[in-house]
Amino acid sequence: MIDILSLTLKELEEMLLSKGYEKYRAKQIFSFLYKQNIDNFNLMTALKKDMRKQLSEEFFIYSVKIRSVSIGNDGAKKYLFELLDGALIESVLIPMDNGKFTICVSTQVGCTMGCKFCATGRMGFKRNLTASEIVEQTRYILKDNGLKIANIVYMGMGEPLDNYDNTVKSMLIMMEEFGLGISKRRMTLSTCGILPSLKQLKKDLPYINLAFSLHSAISEKRSMIMPINEKYPLEDVLRVLKDFPIPRRRRITFEYVMIKGLNDTREDAKALINIMSNLKSKLNLIPLNKHDLIGTKFEPTSMNEIEKFAQRLRNKGIFVTIRKSKGSDINAACGMLATTKAS
Ligand code: SAH
Ligand code: SF4
Repeated sequence: MIDILSLTLKELEEMLLSKGYEKYRAKQIFSFLYKQNIDNFNLMTALKKDMRKQLSEEFFIYSVKIRSVSIGNDGAKKYLFELLDGALIESVLIPMDNGKFTICVSTQVGCTMGCKFCATGRMGFKRNLTASEIVEQTRYILKDNGLKIANIVYMGMGEPLDNYDNTVKSMLIMMEEFGLGISKRRMTLSTCGILPSLKQLKKDLPYINLAFSLHSAISEKRSMIMPINEKYPLEDVLRVLKDFPIPRRRRITFEYVMIKGLNDTREDAKALINIMSNLKSKLNLIPLNKHDLIGTKFEPTSMNEIEKFAQRLRNKGIFVTIRKSKGSDINAACGMLATTKAS
């Protein structure tokens, strides 16, 4: 059986052609699946009965089971999904100040990267998600909230570039105009900097919005909290980011979790200014979210200190935003997605 939600339009077209069907049927099916949310081939009544029968014999429509939904004080909604093998993943719907919505999707059950301050990193790794499991998070949440469109950020559980093929496929599927039709401009991929995949992404999906988890502009310090920095050092990643094609009037986002006494000093600000001054980028300062899995070793920098840090950078012409983490009361904020059962 073939998982139809894991196929790009092109793949489905080729498959249907090889079975003797017309190419345009693929667009029709995409529209049934994603625009009309039909998840039973028998209900695709615009297709001939024989075809519906054959489709249901050869393809299946993946569906996640919803285990729970929690709603935070600030309106963020955390979804806990159960996958076919019983693994649990989380996704978050975040209402924005401008009335729009952002959906934060997961790409793996857990994560292998082991960043010291991240709950997902502490829970270990179980497996990669399939493309359909990534797409389904979006499809489900849009439907559940009666939404046609949302921004999609790949900032949930897992490292998207460590599950490269399925991540890229999921983006292509969601971008398809006969399906969900979510444009590239609305998608942001966040990575800790897996160098070979980043180079490949430049070829496969140029002009995608990128967020880079920096967390320290001083390489030795970065290694202390992010083991990946030993394998793919900051200097090398920055070189690739520098000539990554980015959309007009957009900048690469550097994510920076503020950890008290660790990466919030004058010296850290100076190092940031140094690397950001010659890169089309903006800095997003994130107060560290606490979580049982991280323990008490790391403390968040106070809001007052974060403001001062930001001002120091702004004085040098750096674009800085401070993220007010949505959903921290329901463990839905960044770095807090960890389904304990899944490890
Ligand atoms: N693996 C990818 C994408 C998921 S993480 C990445 O690391 O970029 C989404 C963001 O949350 C990352 O910037 C991550 O560094 C940040 N994050 C991790 N732990 C956090 C914590 N405890 N508090 C706040 N942000 C955290
Ligand atoms: Fe993985 Fe990102 Fe967490 Fe690091 S911050 S452990 S890369 S999810």
